[in-house]
Amino acid sequence: MKTPVRAAFDAMEYPTVVVVGGGFAGLKLIHRLAGKPFKVILLDKNNYHCFQPLLYQVATGSLGADNIAYPFRRSVGPMPNVIYRMAEVLRVVPGENRVETDHGDFRYDHLVLATGTVTNFFGNGRIAHESMQLKSIGQALDIRSDFLQEFEAALYLEDEQAQRQRLNFVVVGGGPSGVELAGALAEIRKTILKHEFREVDNRRMQIHLVDSNHAVLANFSPKAQGLALRFLKDLGVNVILDTLVTGYDGETVTFKDGSTMQSTTVIWTAGVKGKPIPGLEAAVEERPARYRVDAFNRVEGTANIYAIGDIALDRSDPNWPKGHPQVAPVAIQQATHLARNLLRRDASPWQPFEYRDKGSMATIGRYKAVVDLGKLRFGGPIAWFMWLFVHLMSIVGFRSRVMVLTHWAWKYLSWKNTIRLIIRPYVRREYAVQQAEERADPVHS
Ligand SMILES: Cc1cc2nc3c(=O)[nH]c(=O)nc-3n(C[C@H](O)[C@H](O)[C@H](O)COP(=O)(O)OP(=O)(O)OC[C@H]3O[C@@H](n4cnc5c(N)ncnc54)[C@H](O)[C@@H]3O)c2cc1C
Repeated sequence: MKTPVRAAFDAMEYPTVVVVGGGFAGLKLIHRLAGKPFKVILLDKNNYHCFQPLLYQVATGSLGADNIAYPFRRSVGPMPNVIYRMAEVLRVVPGENRVETDHGDFRYDHLVLATGTVTNFFGNGRIAHESMQLKSIGQALDIRSDFLQEFEAALYLEDEQAQRQRLNFVVVGGGPSGVELAGALAEIRKTILKHEFREVDNRRMQIHLVDSNHAVLANFSPKAQGLALRFLKDLGVNVILDTLVTGYDGETVTFKDGSTMQSTTVIWTAGVKGKPIPGLEAAVEERPARYRVDAFNRVEGTANIYAIGDIALDRSDPNWPKGHPQVAPVAIQQATHLARNLLRRDASPWQPFEYRDKGSMATIGRYKAVVDLGKLRFGGPIAWFMWLFVHLMSIVGFRSRVMVLTHWAWKYLSWKNTIRLIIRPYVRREYAVQQAEERADPVHS
């Protein structure tokens, strides 16, 4: 027998909106549709929303996983017209207004795809297997375990060369994620390694940031790029530009010019791509695997399917002919805009989406950040405080905000990253084993 809550939901005579993915876009959309004349079903394979911009702080032990994740049930709890199901959507069947998931089918009147992106290894399966990623909380925790394990392992090595190889960290990709991660690792060398692993000479830890562009932060202003480069160099990060990584076998990184570097830790932040759900192939732009949408975020060739956030490619905005940047503000604004359009009365025409670019920022170590804000371009401690404030206010949940502020205050006053626990040791699987698993289960691999 249905519970009264479920019976009330089912009895609502509203159109059903199925939202796939509760990232920045999906979560904003359900908030905008809460209490409105729709039955909303949120589907996500995880039971939490993840605040990806602070993943690198989880990876480097500054924040705990629960500081940047927020359970969907807490969000939908007070929303009578919204329910959440933990499910991975495996196929869209547009002709039947139905999605198939690993927990059965769901029917929709409107379908909204907000599935975000995965790491892009540009087809290099070996690099994908051997290197680490920073797209999910699980991956951030792997990085945290890995660098602590490398430090512990280095203590057992007598040979200086072997120790250096263990402590050689290569971050590939000089976008905001790579820059922020490299800066945080450099801080760790100055603080944790120096003070808590005293038997190791901390100068043996090297952090290399590699990018194929001629500058870091390719989408920022030249001023911000220059400042970021200076801040990284001040922290002792070896920035290698105009250099393409072409291979990595778990021990040796190979560059396009044939040169190599020894490292047991490569973290790949060099790009993202969509992972479109089967069923809408005709609307998928192969590179970088996003759904082509019109100015109303409607997926090409469909009448009632929308894509928002990183997975959507809208080339109709004259200011963004190659599509909008894959950043949180685009996802949030598209969700807000789509909700507004869905809520319009039948006669009122839908309005096209226009992105309001509020600027970009990235932080580099302690007290340093760069900000591009319209014509204002600056860096240093004021930019860092701005970065701090904006990120703090964007985190979902009051408790999380207080916890993050407390962690940061402690960290910045005492230099102590608080969370240096190897709870779940990182074990890299054999390449051959992973290949076999992928062949057996291509959908989930
Ligand atoms: C390390 C890092 C740092 C970043 N820093 C910044 C920053 O400083 N500023 C900024 O603006 N942006 C930043 N970004 C980018 C920003 O996080 C993304 O633009 C944003 O998350 C996109 O939101 P979204 O809702 O489209 O997708 P996401 O937030 O990725 O959410 C997608 C959701 O879909 C779910 N999902 C995926 N596939 C399925 C499926 N088949 N079935 C069910 N559920 C599914 C996932 O579990 C996830 O919850 C960063 C990203 C990363 C990885």
